[in-house]
Amino acid sequence: MNVNRLLRDFVSLFYPSYCYGCYGPLIKGEHLICSRCILSLPQTYFHLDPENSLKRRMFGRLPVAHALAFLRFTKSGRIQGLLHHLKYKNRPEIGVALGKVYASKILEAGFVPPFHVIVPVPLHPSRLRRRGYNQSAKFGEGLSDIFQIPVCEDILTRRIKTDTQTRKNKLERWENVAEVFEANTTAEIRDKHILLIDDVITTGATIDACGQALVRAGCSEISIAGIAVA
Ligand SMILES: [Zn+2]
Repeated sequence: MNVNRLLRDFVSLFYPSYCYGCYGPLIKGEHLICSRCILSLPQTYFHLDPENSLKRRMFGRLPVAHALAFLRFTKSGRIQGLLHHLKYKNRPEIGVALGKVYASKILEAGFVPPFHVIVPVPLHPSRLRRRGYNQSAKFGEGLSDIFQIPVCEDILTRRIKTDTQTRKNKLERWENVAEVFEANTTAEIRDKHILLIDDVITTGATIDACGQALVRAGCSEISIAGIAVA
């Protein structure tokens, strides 16, 4: 056993780490999220169903090759706890961990990712400065690590700071995001298959607006993935 590991085990005797899903203690070998939570999180299995409900939700708006989401969003419990820590409690590593777990499950199922580049939905620069990281990009980092596909944070920019979308109805949300995003035309996306990712996909309006910007910038195909779908 090496010294670092010995030291870490020693420190964890006094500062036991806990699971961000259920607040139970983590045992050796577990990281951020306990195995019980990982097993009990409600997964979509969209990667096994090419015509899943998220793909149908995007129909007639943004043509997507694959529509993926790790989890079904529920207002209470584990998922909300995890996402709350990821977004508001300075725990970017939760996004990376969820990306790694999800990408591993996708590969284990025999799905061969056809994507060239992972592009996260961007935050407005002022929000990015305040939070210090983009939670969707952190999810992308985890996916990138397992898929061995690069994640590019500088392709999409958010020009307008949108209001919090939770109080608006569906139509207002559409108008709100349609012209918000801009994509750089770069060699990184021209004629490439992009995996566009977000934290929680609700109406799909944000994903649609980002996707339209990427299409205008010359990508050949778009697939989408979320940590969770509501
Ligand atoms: Zn747990």
